[in-house]
Order: sequence, then C-alpha cells, then structure tokens
Amino acid sequence: MKINLKLTNSPKAKPTDESKLGFGAVFSDHMLIRKWTAENGWEDAEIVPYADFVLSPAAAVFHYGAEIFEGLKAYRTAEGKVQLFRPIENVRRMNNSAERLCMPQMPEEEMLECIKKIVEVEKDWVPHSEGTSLYIRPFLIGTDPKLGVHTVHQCTFCVICSPSGSYYAEGLAPVKIMIEDEDVRAVRGGTGYAKCGGNYAASYRAGEKAAKKGYSQVLWLDGVERKYIEEVGAMNVMFKIDGVVVTPELLGSVLPGITRKSCIELLKAKGYKVEERRISVDELFEAAKSGRLEEAWGTGTAAVVSPIGELIFKDKEYKINNFEIGKTTQMLYDTLTSIQWGKAPDEHNWIVKID
Ligand SMILES: *Cc1c(COP(=O)(O)O)cnc(C)c1O
Repeated sequence: MKINLKLTNSPKAKPTDESKLGFGAVFSDHMLIRKWTAENGWEDAEIVPYADFVLSPAAAVFHYGAEIFEGLKAYRTAEGKVQLFRPIENVRRMNNSAERLCMPQMPEEEMLECIKKIVEVEKDWVPHSEGTSLYIRPFLIGTDPKLGVHTVHQCTFCVICSPSGSYYAEGLAPVKIMIEDEDVRAVRGGTGYAKCGGNYAASYRAGEKAAKKGYSQVLWLDGVERKYIEEVGAMNVMFKIDGVVVTPELLGSVLPGITRKSCIELLKAKGYKVEERRISVDELFEAAKSGRLEEAWGTGTAAVVSPIGELIFKDKEYKINNFEIGKTTQMLYDTLTSIQWGKAPDEHNWIVKID
C-alpha cells in the first residue's frame, strides 16, 4: 500500500477558541481515502483535501446501511507531542465489524498506517487545551450503485479528523440514566457487537424519550428477556457492588469497548475483583435498596468514564452514591486520562506516538 499525498493549497484557519470546539462539528484540512472493489481488492490510499463525496443515489450505504465506523482520539502531551491510545484495538474491531456486514477487511498494519499517517499530516489540528483532543473517525461505506440486496462489491474507507473540546468542560459530573423497557438496541445473533451505523439510528427513539424525561442516556436491556443489563447509550457500563466491579459480559449484543477493556485491565492490576457476567435489573435494584450498590459508571472513548448518579426504571428512581462521583470511578478517570495525555508512564504499552 502506498499513501499518496494531495495536500490542500488553502489550509483553513484553526479554531482560536478551543473552549467552543464542542464535538464532531469542526473538521481538519484533509481526509484519507482508500477504495476497494471485489475484482481488484484495496487500491492505494490517498490523503486529499476534506471535501463532500460524490456517490450514486443508489449506493448501498444509502439504502441498506452498509456502513461501519470507529472512534478514537489523538492526544497532545505537555511536551507538545501527539499520541494515540491503543489504536490497534480499533483496527481489529473495525475488521470484526466488517466481517459481520460482509464488508472487506484491511490488513491490520495497513489500516494502522492509514490512521497514523492522516494524524501525522493533521497534527497541528490536535488542540492544546486541557481535556481537548483530535477525534478520529475511520469509516467504511458500501458504494455499489445498485439496488439489489447483496453483499457489497465496492467500498470506500475514509478517515476524517475533528478537533474536539473537553467532554467535561464543567468537570466530571454524575448523570441521570433511564432504563429502557420497550425498545432494544441489539440481540444476540444481530449486529450489537459491530460498530455499524444502523445500530445507532435504531437507538434514537429511546434516546429522545429519555431526553424528554430529563435523563441524559438510555440503559439498554437484553432483547430476549428484557431483564439483563447491556450498556448505556453508546458506552459500556460497570457497577461496584460490595466492593466487586461487575460488568455485563460480551455475549454478542454488547459492543466490546476499548475503554471497558482498559478499565478491566487497570482494575485487575490494582487488585480489584472484576466479574464479567450477566446482571439483571432486579439484582441491581436489590443491591441499590440494601445499600450495596456503591458506584455505577459508563465507559467510552468520548467521555472516558461517566459517573451515573441516578437510575429510573418504570418510574422507580434510585440515587447512587448520593449523586456523587465514587472513588473507583474517579480513580479510573484519573488513571486513564493521565496515560492518554502522557502525564503518567505508559506501563501497559498502550500508547502509539505520532511524532
Ligand atoms: C463505541 C461504543 C462503546 C465504547 O467503546 P470504546 O471503544 O470504549 O469507545 C460502547 N458502546 C457502544 C454502543 C459503542 O458504539
């Protein structure tokens, strides 16, 4: 694979007020494109000026959800260097998602090289302020200009970059979560473990319902018994019950989060007992009622760790840890962000340096 550079002659002005970046609304000067066809496989990649796509209105992505994506960040260290956090995990997950949707996989080292190269080209777009980062969005779309429902024969892999603000501009704060008992996100045998676009469109309705009630995210239950906890919004979820950290196991409907995996590894290294198992709402509320539910938090690349202060299920409300951030939640947030922004040594070999 070659990566050909066709760089812009008219770079955009970088945002001056990094406190107003928000998330995913500003884009850097370039994008990486790599096309694939069933006949010829992957072409060379190219880095070109960020621009709109021209696609057939019949393209598979518009009709049948032939789309998968990833999300990771480039972080700027105090020395001004740029680094990635466990990008090989995103590469592997992207290929797993591709396998589920019968879309083409890319050799791991080539996809990693694509991601590293676009970040290297765009490194001046990695913001400098505390908590900010360059959000990296690799995605793959089916572009076959045919309406027949069949596996894709032509695809475009693309990586775009978006300087993004601090998720916690006002500091780490607990959120209120609604347990959804009607809509489901995924079932075993479906696409829950894949990061594919269709999963998210299908989650909008429950999200809207939660927002109307004043809750910031939805906690999803399993699609078969509507009983076992799966994840919260687009984050994995963890509970601390009687000192033990419990998180739903990966049975096919839960997205295998890299933050989840990192938290489990950190917790075990620090001597915590961690259980990956099924946990029902009943068990959770029993634990809450008897005071054994000590902490709850979500995990994901965007927020890192998001403390859960309150749960509602069919109009029953439970406060967790007096709506305060728990010690374990805070420890995980501090440890992970210190590694990501290069403030702590990278003992687990998770960091990939760009320059
Ligand atoms: C991306 C995502 C996560 C979190 O994964 P990370 O790799 O930790 O960012 C969790 N759940 C869903 C549904 C997701 O899409």
